[in-house]
Amino acid sequence: AAGAAPSEPPAEAAAPVVIAHLLPDLLNLYGDGGNVRILEQRLRWRGIPVEVRRVGHGESIDLSQVDLVFLGGGPDREQKLASEQLLAMKGDLAAYVEGDGPLLAICGGYQILGRQWLWGDELVEGLGILDMETRRPGTSADRLIDNMVLESPLASHPVVGYENHAGRTYLGEGVEGFGRVVSSCGRGNNDDDRVEGARYKNVVGTYSHGPLLSKNPEVADWLLARALERRATRMEEAVPALAPLDNRAELAANEVMTKRLS
Ligand code: GLN
Repeated sequence: AAGAAPSEPPAEAAAPVVIAHLLPDLLNLYGDGGNVRILEQRLRWRGIPVEVRRVGHGESIDLSQVDLVFLGGGPDREQKLASEQLLAMKGDLAAYVEGDGPLLAICGGYQILGRQWLWGDELVEGLGILDMETRRPGTSADRLIDNMVLESPLASHPVVGYENHAGRTYLGEGVEGFGRVVSSCGRGNNDDDRVEGARYKNVVGTYSHGPLLSKNPEVADWLLARALERRATRMEEAVPALAPLDNRAELAANEVMTKRLS
């Protein structure tokens, strides 16, 4: 966006909105971490102070001081290492999610949130924070690799993305899809139901790699709105307005993809 001019800094510097990027050194395929830069910049354009905490392998963070969490995807070896660290944080992560903490998780990071996921050929334990599981594809099935267009309740425009995964994900009770695949290409969670990703409380899980939010600014603002609302309640402050931004560049990119894939 050609962002709005930043507003005047507040007289007393407000405490920043804290975005935690978990395990950027393990989970960052296809530039997934670009989503964090987008979330950060969309707050800056609005004059809202923001701090990004990158929590690397072997490091820790106090999630009670965090307003938004991001988890990317990674190759098998890194995904397994990441899952071991996340399993050790399971109680804190579950409390964060149950306390309406917004979280965006992509591909490998998304799979780890479920009860089990596929590590190579082996089914391994996930966090079980979302009632869902990732299983093996049928014997003849390949990886799902394609562009896709979704309809999502989080956006009035189509959501465009790119998937690349072997595991097939099935959602349980109380977990909705992030969207429905409406393009002829792209599969989403599995071969059967055209559901893509997951929503539970303020969690968005998706197979859409890369900077998903660059072409889907409404999804970025949905996450930011949840972060600001929850933070205001916690701080006993008024919810800051999420001023509209000029999204023409983002939506032009979205439209190019949508037209190509229709
Ligand atoms: N290992 C996962 C799968 O293929 C994908 C990991 C990723 O983030 N691409 O199902």
